[in-house]
Amino acid sequence: MRFGICTLDEFDVAGKTVLCRVDMNQPVDREQGTLKSTARIEACVPTIRELSDKGAKVVLMAHQGSDIEYKNYYCTQPHARVLETLLDRPVQWIDDVCGPAARQTIRELKDGEILLLDNVRYVAEEQTLFEMKLRLTHEQQAKTLLVEKLAPLADLYVCDAFAAAHRDQPSLCGFEQVLPSAMGRLFETEYCVISELMEAPEKPCVFVLGGSKISDAFMMMETVLGSGVADTVLTGGLVGNILLAAKGEAIGKGSLDFIYKSNYGEYIEKAKAIYAAYAGRIMLPTDLAYVEDGVRRECMIGDVPEAICALDIGSRTAKQYETEIRNARTVFVNGPMGVFEKAETELGTKTVFEALAATNGYTVVGGGDSVTAAAKYKVKDKLGYVCTGGGALIRFLTGEELPVVKALRFAAKQFGHKGE
Ligand code: ADP
Ligand code: MG
Repeated sequence: MRFGICTLDEFDVAGKTVLCRVDMNQPVDREQGTLKSTARIEACVPTIRELSDKGAKVVLMAHQGSDIEYKNYYCTQPHARVLETLLDRPVQWIDDVCGPAARQTIRELKDGEILLLDNVRYVAEEQTLFEMKLRLTHEQQAKTLLVEKLAPLADLYVCDAFAAAHRDQPSLCGFEQVLPSAMGRLFETEYCVISELMEAPEKPCVFVLGGSKISDAFMMMETVLGSGVADTVLTGGLVGNILLAAKGEAIGKGSLDFIYKSNYGEYIEKAKAIYAAYAGRIMLPTDLAYVEDGVRRECMIGDVPEAICALDIGSRTAKQYETEIRNARTVFVNGPMGVFEKAETELGTKTVFEALAATNGYTVVGGGDSVTAAAKYKVKDKLGYVCTGGGALIRFLTGEELPVVKALRFAAKQFGHKGE
C-alpha cells in the first residue's frame, strides 16, 4: 500500500484475469494507420510485462484520441503492433470493446497472454460528453455497460493510466467499485514523484510557469504559493504577460489583443489579487521579445513599443531565471516561456531548459508542450522526472484529489490488500 492505494506487490496474479487500464493515447497518422510517437506506449511496458511474466491473463483497455474534436480518434490496432515489438511477445487485438466477441476472447486467454481491446471511447458511456454532461458517480459508473460486461470476467483491476487520472470515466473509476484494484508501476512512480514534490520538496523550490493554459497556471500558482511548497514562481509565456498587465505595465497592444481574443481578459483582474498577495515571491519578466519583419527584437519593461505582441521573455529575464534555477534544490516546470516552436521566440524556453539540465536540483517537467520542448533541446535524459500526464499532473498540483486516486482508495478500503 502506498498513499492508501494497493500496489501490484499486494496481489498474486498468476492464473488470474487482470483488467488493466493504460494510457497509450498518441498522435495518429490516419493515412498510414500508424502512430507518430510511441513514448506513452513505452511507458506502459513495465506493468504489462510484469503482469504477463507473473502468469496473469492480461486484458488491456485504452483510449485513443478525442471523441469531441475527433482528433486522433482511431482504433487501437497500431498500438498492439507497437506493444508486440516492445515486449517481444504476441499481443492479441480485437475490434471490440466489451461485446460478445471481446468477452469470448477474454475467456479463452491462457496464463501470460495479452489482449488489447479496441478504443474504449467507442462505448458511449466512456465518452467525454457523458463525463461532462451527466457526471456519473463512481457507483453509477459501475453500472455502465463496460463495467457490467467486463468486470465479471476479471479477478483484479489495475489502473496504470496516470496521464488520464484526472478523468472521471467508467474504464478509470467504475471497476474499483466492484473489483479488488491496484495501481500499476507507472502510476505508482508518477504519483509518488509528484506527491513527494508537493509534500516535502527540498528548498529552495522554484516553480516555472508559462505557456497558455491560463486557468491551470493560476490555480497552480495559488496552491503552491499558498501552501508554501514553492518559494518562488518564475513566470513567462502568456502567464507572464497577464501578470505584467495586472501590475499595470504596458505589454503592447498586440499582446493585450491576444489575451482578450483568447478570452483570458478576466484573468488580468484575478492576477491582480494573486500578485498583491505574493508579490515578493512571483518573478515577472523584466524584458520581453517580439518579432518585427521576421527578426527578434527585445525591449525593457517600461519601454515597450505600443503595438507589439510579446512572444517570449527577453534575454535579461532568461539570464535571471537561469540563475534562480541553478540555485534551486527543486524545480518544477509547466509551460514554455514563449512561442518556442519558432526560432525567433525560442530563446527564453531554450535557456530555461538548458538551465534545468545544468542545475544540481531535482527537476520535474510536466505538460505536453513542455515535454516537447525538453525533447527539442535534448535535455530529457538530464531531468529528474518527465511526467507523461499533463492534465493529471496539473490537477494534482492544484490540490484536488484525482478521481482515479479516489476510486483506487475506495477499492483498497472495500476489498482490502489481497482482494480476499
Ligand atoms: P504545456 O503543454 O507544457 O502545459 P501550454 O499548453 O500551457 O504548455 O502552452 C504551450 C503553448 O503556449 C505553446 O504552443 C506556445 O507557443 C504558447 N505560448 C507560449 N508563450 C506564448 C505567448 N507569449 N503568447 C502566445 N502563446 C504563447
Ligand atoms: Mg499544451
